[in-house]
Amino acid sequence: MVNHADLSEKFNVDEPRVNWHDETLWWVRQKRDRAAKQIPEWEELRSVASSIKDNVLSNLSEYLAEFEKNAKQNGVHVHWAADADEHNQIVLEIIQSHGIKSIVKSKSMLTEECHLNPFLIKNNIEVVDTDLGERIVQLAEEPPSHIVLPCIHWKKEEIGDLFHKHLGTPAGNADPIFLTRAARAHLRKYFLSAKLAMTGVNFAIASTGEFVVCTNEGNADMGAHLADVHIACMGLEKIIPERKHLGVFLRLLARSATGQPITSYSSHFRKPAEGQEMHIVIVDNGRSRQLGRLDFRNSLKCIRCAACFNTCPVYRRSGGHSYHTAIAGPIGSILAPNLDMRNYADLPFASTLCGSCSNVCPVKIDIHQQLYKWRQVLVEEGYVTKEKSVAMKTMSSVLSNPSKYRLAGRLGRWILRNAPFLAKNRWNLWFKHREMPEAPKNSFREWYLENKVNKK
Ligand code: SF4
Repeated sequence: MVNHADLSEKFNVDEPRVNWHDETLWWVRQKRDRAAKQIPEWEELRSVASSIKDNVLSNLSEYLAEFEKNAKQNGVHVHWAADADEHNQIVLEIIQSHGIKSIVKSKSMLTEECHLNPFLIKNNIEVVDTDLGERIVQLAEEPPSHIVLPCIHWKKEEIGDLFHKHLGTPAGNADPIFLTRAARAHLRKYFLSAKLAMTGVNFAIASTGEFVVCTNEGNADMGAHLADVHIACMGLEKIIPERKHLGVFLRLLARSATGQPITSYSSHFRKPAEGQEMHIVIVDNGRSRQLGRLDFRNSLKCIRCAACFNTCPVYRRSGGHSYHTAIAGPIGSILAPNLDMRNYADLPFASTLCGSCSNVCPVKIDIHQQLYKWRQVLVEEGYVTKEKSVAMKTMSSVLSNPSKYRLAGRLGRWILRNAPFLAKNRWNLWFKHREMPEAPKNSFREWYLENKVNKK
């Protein structure tokens, strides 16, 4: 079974890449800080956003029913999917009912979560991702490693090579403007010929039945306006009650994600244009179950800004693929065990619990506390390895008993001095990644007692 530690180790083989990945994301985090500081009411905005989402989560079924009623009145086809399989099947049936063989798709983490692309490809449908970062990872046959910056782990020289191979750009040209223009020309033919476009949904407004899609590239708009059929897929937590609430989230989203005041395009879709067809697929896929877990329901407030990724010291130095799930980072480590405790039991442990994620979260999700809570649940339910279980029980017994603690300290110092190989070996996972300390002459307690006595 794959786990975060092993996958991080692979990512860490390339040290310059790790340093560069770390620094780039920290730079984005600093941009976020500067943008947030320019808004005097930033903290108030966060609190209001969190309260709006509290209201939504407490009245979810009513808001969803209201959204469905209004969307249908607007002429939109509304579909409900209990899980990823149902979502994929619904999308496939719409595509096949129009005899379509190739579609364009803008960024949608929900479709990543449902593994839609491989499903459609298996059913002989060509899918072209039109977000630049997503197109890059698609050409590289990789999943995105970040929900806002899908190819943040790629260097521009590598993208130059990839485009040379797939798009026929000149070898060795890694100029970002040139590569972006090449991608634009490459995607244009797909935009112009696609009969069906898919988009995600950032916010769905219950009182009007419309939905809002935020992009920086305008690719969602281009796809949806040119195609005959538009399918938008949304997780059921994307609902907000009224249009007036949108301003709160739009002000928070882009600033938290990239430090921009607003995304370049915040497009409202309410009804199909004449001669076009619009579908919306509302997906549960474990969200109702998470809503029922009182300790974790707040995670459904997430607006997918990725601020928690950019600030997380573990994410920055282990890379998105080490999380082996569509939504990586701190929030992904809370969402994934809800879907499958066995496969994702490692993720809540991939954190220092420093709390930086909770500090930057625009909707005030108590992320690090939920990670800590998941650890407890996973241990209680028997999903952690025997080694970890035994080690934690031993630690608990030693740390809660002063005599055992003192004895363990003496033993540890003796080993480091006289038999270091017992600590410095490949079976000691702590040693594998850290320098072992020099054994001090005595413990802090002994030092303290000695000095306190001397002072007197
Ligand atoms: S948990 Fe908060 S910080 Fe992380 S992606 Fe979601 S909204 Fe952004």
